Amino acid sequence: MQETATVKHPLNLEGVVIGKVVDFDPASDQLYPFNFTASNTELSPEVLADTAVFSDWITGQMAKANARYGIGGYDEHRTIYARSSHFDAGEEPRRLHLGVDIWGPAGTKVYNFYKAEVHSFKFNDHYGDYGATIILKYDINGRVFYALYGHLSLSSIADLKVGQKIAKGAAFATFGIPEENGHWPPHLHFQLIFNLFSARGDYPGVCPFSQKAVFLLNSPDPSAILKHTFKAALI
Ligand SMILES: [Zn+2]
Repeated sequence: MQETATVKHPLNLEGVVIGKVVDFDPASDQLYPFNFTASNTELSPEVLADTAVFSDWITGQMAKANARYGIGGYDEHRTIYARSSHFDAGEEPRRLHLGVDIWGPAGTKVYNFYKAEVHSFKFNDHYGDYGATIILKYDINGRVFYALYGHLSLSSIADLKVGQKIAKGAAFATFGIPEENGHWPPHLHFQLIFNLFSARGDYPGVCPFSQKAVFLLNSPDPSAILKHTFKAALI
């Protein structure tokens, strides 16, 4: 990314009612915080190499915690991307995660948290990539920004049109199965982006650690939005 990616204005959500992104009842549902850094020694290369085994590990962790979803990943330095050469193309591998992942069953509905329009969408069909992806454009209190929804089902993008309005509260997408989501255990990658540059239907969800500062400036912490879904459970 260019140095001009600097962002002068943060999100301005003052006085705005933000809706949910997934179904969650803070009174009865639990969240399991995943750790995908090197400190998690349970995640051996053998687990990561096989999507079915990795999925079983994810599901098992959540079941043990009696959690409806797993969550985490913003500003996390991850080792799991070593499973795919997709993240090793440059001189420095990309390992710093720029969104929040919500881990849950394929078919989980994704809701729009505020009125938006479809900026772009794409099937990023590489091993380890986003699979089906939607980018929605928001204008809240005069501040334009984007949300990238990655690892979706192909049906989520089947009838979509660029410029299409998506109402607040609309269930506009679902979590994809591995064959449609870039070969990951089912989850949603949710990332906020101020400047997309020329990106369409795709934008880096992980960056080289050395470029962390500029990328995090362009992708603020999604908990500003997700705290309205998960309430105190997230904090
Ligand atoms: Zn992610």
